[in-house]
Amino acid sequence: MSTTTKLFGTNGVRGLANVELTPDKAIKIGLAIGTFFGKKNLLLGHDARTSGPMLAMAITSGLTATGCNVYFAGMAPTPSLQFAVKNHKMDGGIIITASHNPAEYNGIKVIWSDGIEISHEQEEEIEKNYFDNKTNFVSWDKLGEKKELRGINEEYITAIKTHVDVEEIVKKHFHAVIDTANSVGGLATPYLMRELGCKVTSINANIDGTFPGREPEPRPESIGALAVTVKAIGADIGIAFDGDADRSIFVDENGEIYMGDKTFAIILKQFLIKNNGATIVTPVSSSTLIKDITDMYNGKSEWTKVGSVTVSQKMKEINSKIGGEENGGVFYGPHQSVRDGAMTTALLLEIMAKTGKKLSELVAEQPQYFIEKSKIECSDEKKNLLQTKIYEQVKKENISIIDGIKIWFNDKSAILIRASGTEPVYRLYAEAKNKERAKKLVEEYSSKLEKLLQTI
Ligand code: MG
Repeated sequence: MSTTTKLFGTNGVRGLANVELTPDKAIKIGLAIGTFFGKKNLLLGHDARTSGPMLAMAITSGLTATGCNVYFAGMAPTPSLQFAVKNHKMDGGIIITASHNPAEYNGIKVIWSDGIEISHEQEEEIEKNYFDNKTNFVSWDKLGEKKELRGINEEYITAIKTHVDVEEIVKKHFHAVIDTANSVGGLATPYLMRELGCKVTSINANIDGTFPGREPEPRPESIGALAVTVKAIGADIGIAFDGDADRSIFVDENGEIYMGDKTFAIILKQFLIKNNGATIVTPVSSSTLIKDITDMYNGKSEWTKVGSVTVSQKMKEINSKIGGEENGGVFYGPHQSVRDGAMTTALLLEIMAKTGKKLSELVAEQPQYFIEKSKIECSDEKKNLLQTKIYEQVKKENISIIDGIKIWFNDKSAILIRASGTEPVYRLYAEAKNKERAKKLVEEYSSKLEKLLQTI
């Protein structure tokens, strides 16, 4: 698709602040969104980035010009804003965040009245308004108003507490270390955990839109300080959030960092024990571990394309109450069908409290898989043809083509080969019951891809 007709990517609008995402562009986006909603009440908030207030003012200008009332919530985690949209019966919401991208980026996510990000079809309507300059300017006496809506983070914390056994968690007096990447995660989870009886040690907790502590993507390479701190001070658990705190990555008491599949599997197991026969929603990039747990505890799985909006939308469509992604996104439907770092943290603490097990023990009792990832360069123009060529080679294997190509092998190993939606690369995710096999799979398919690329 050509870039001139696309505004939204896989997770809303993204771009370099004041270079690609300028105030004039943000006004125009505000006009397009306001025209899409049509004179409604919309909640607006942003993460900690330096460009947040500037873009919020510009978007407010566009929205009020179309007759929408803007309720400004200030700085908040994305899931807190999503919850407030539903809780305050807003017609929709807008969140200014670039999630895990570096500090110089920003972005815009549009939320529907149920708190879930709008569908790709709805995004296309907004894009059409934007590119066709279709704007419902209202007369001077019908302009929307800008109002303040404060206290949403406190309401969000209160709501999360209704979904867990607070008394049981409080009894344990867990010691937790939280790394909120100098962003909005620090506005909710440390307070939630204090109310859950935890001793909270925070790192990178001061709000600073330049993100001086670490990059906002919680990768093992970027959260080493958290892992070291947890072990050094003898804490029970460490939690790292991304820039808008919808994703959470956990560290056990030994300083071991787990990717999202492992912690999602712990939550999923407890959910299925309580909700026999439930259907779970997860992208095809998830580990076979998720399928194993679903099968073991009598659940059904619905695999989707990669992307949190797709997972949320599928949960809504089939009325599923649980979803999860390998990048640390857990969707807990009884609270809200969106990724929610604070909710995930509370659920994990509840499981630790009720089972009396340490995080390392909860992970150790799961089926074990080793993951290896890699990527190869591939220009956007060659992506489709490469996909066809790989498909021709592997179509007789046990495969899925929901998103990219996933191949399952008889020894419980698997590989996902998928073109990136945002970069000129193909990504390979392999997993196996031992590290060598996972490594070999990535190497084998990387070289296959390189060879096929030379024929294009
Ligand atoms: Mg995020």
